[in-house]
Amino acid sequence: MVKRVVIVGAGPSGVLLAHYLLRRDERYDVEIYERRSDPQTVPFSSARTFPLVLNQRGMTALSKVEGILAAVKAVSLESTGSLNHQKKGKTQFLPKQKPILILDRRRLVVTLLKMLTRQYSSDRALRGSPWEHRLKIHFNHQCKHIDFEAKTVTFENAAVNSPGEVTVNYDLLIGADGARSRVREQFLSTNQFELETKYVPSAYKPIFLPAENVTSLKAGYIHTWRGSDGISAILVHDVDGLMSGTVNFPRENNPIVNFSTKEQVWQFFREHFPEIAELLPESEVEAFLNRPISTILTIRCNRYHHGDSVLLIGDAAHATSPSLGQGCNAAFEDVAFFDKLLDEYSNNIAEALKQFTLRRKPDAHALVELSDYAFPLSGKLLFLEFFIRLRTAQFMHQLFPRYFSPSLFQLLSETTVPYSEILNSHKGWISRVKQANEKLLERQ
Ligand SMILES: Cc1cc2nc3c(=O)[nH]c(=O)nc-3n(C[C@H](O)[C@H](O)[C@H](O)COP(=O)(O)OP(=O)(O)OC[C@H]3O[C@@H](n4cnc5c(N)ncnc54)[C@H](O)[C@@H]3O)c2cc1C
Repeated sequence: MVKRVVIVGAGPSGVLLAHYLLRRDERYDVEIYERRSDPQTVPFSSARTFPLVLNQRGMTALSKVEGILAAVKAVSLESTGSLNHQKKGKTQFLPKQKPILILDRRRLVVTLLKMLTRQYSSDRALRGSPWEHRLKIHFNHQCKHIDFEAKTVTFENAAVNSPGEVTVNYDLLIGADGARSRVREQFLSTNQFELETKYVPSAYKPIFLPAENVTSLKAGYIHTWRGSDGISAILVHDVDGLMSGTVNFPRENNPIVNFSTKEQVWQFFREHFPEIAELLPESEVEAFLNRPISTILTIRCNRYHHGDSVLLIGDAAHATSPSLGQGCNAAFEDVAFFDKLLDEYSNNIAEALKQFTLRRKPDAHALVELSDYAFPLSGKLLFLEFFIRLRTAQFMHQLFPRYFSPSLFQLLSETTVPYSEILNSHKGWISRVKQANEKLLERQ
């Protein structure tokens, strides 16, 4: 029997899941509803985007659908490590044994969407074929109301030419609608659903630098700077040569919230990131001033499914701090994992949903913990220890791979070892950083 799947959110996880479901032998018809407009039509300069790093986890999930990994690689830059910029122009290189991919979120989503519509949309080329009508994508549709009993979901259509509400029914509803998920909110009205939401101590503003300004910074590296007072910046090139990234600062006692002039922005960059200040064009200083400050939520819940017909994936299920660059990778792992469960349980959705909660939860919870506490927020000694541990583990593992396990960061980014196993083997370090971070936050 054909199953009607409604996916809320055309972010990375929602669009990848559509690929996975549509290529299955069992027939799933997929409708995606996204509250924003089609990213393929929004100019890059006004898109709300930021760079993403895809590691072995994300790449493994992408590689399972023919052609996707190659398409994503074609719009990404390969990176072999991070360059940590220090005072007086000094840099410290942190190599990766296996390359990672860098691209911005918008480009990733556009690539996944393009491949999806090319293959499955009910356009003229597919008319009369088995693919006709199997995929529908509705932009400018915000999920407003869900009735778990009736299995219906209502969207508000914000398109100027056809505003109004539309209610659709589903056999399977997927909440891929990010950290502030509307689908997850509906779980709160069900029995025994527990949700823990926490703001990450830092907030951020995106930053963009034109290609002609950034020739002094080597492409193919993640460039990082640590200013004082918990302020940091991260910048990466994209395939067109321009650089984008984020400037991060404490959410409480936020140093830039009251900026009202361009001079204050210049002053901030000159003080904390003199190298970046030299690369900033006037137009970007103004844009930076006017951009809103973004905050980040972390999410932990005790189940990701409701009954036999609703599932949360990606950030909706387990949003994390971006400090380790794992959120999107883990969201892609969710998709591949759900697909595996559909295989294992012969497309029995009810069983696959139950197993998803049962078997994915330990890793999702571990990921939130690791993302919060793998990096010390401050404290020079702990930070020094962090680098020494990292380099020693990398070095020893390279020399004696049978006797020394890879570093925490290699395990996270260069393997698909489950997050719960990684947390278990690094409990000591995580609990020390947790104590130090919590003390620091108490003092602030
Ligand atoms: C600054 C920053 C840097 C990051 N860096 C990395 C990194 O390097 N590597 C990494 O792996 N991860 C990174 N992440 C995390 C990563 O962005 C997320 O984990 C990933 O985007 C999650 O994908 P998703 O599809 O689950 O959710 P999202 O990307 O949040 O997509 C959700 C979609 O749902 C839509 N939506 C929301 N509400 C509704 C509604 N009511 N109705 C309809 N549609 C709705 C949204 O518009 C959005 O398009 C970073 C995050 C931030 C903030």
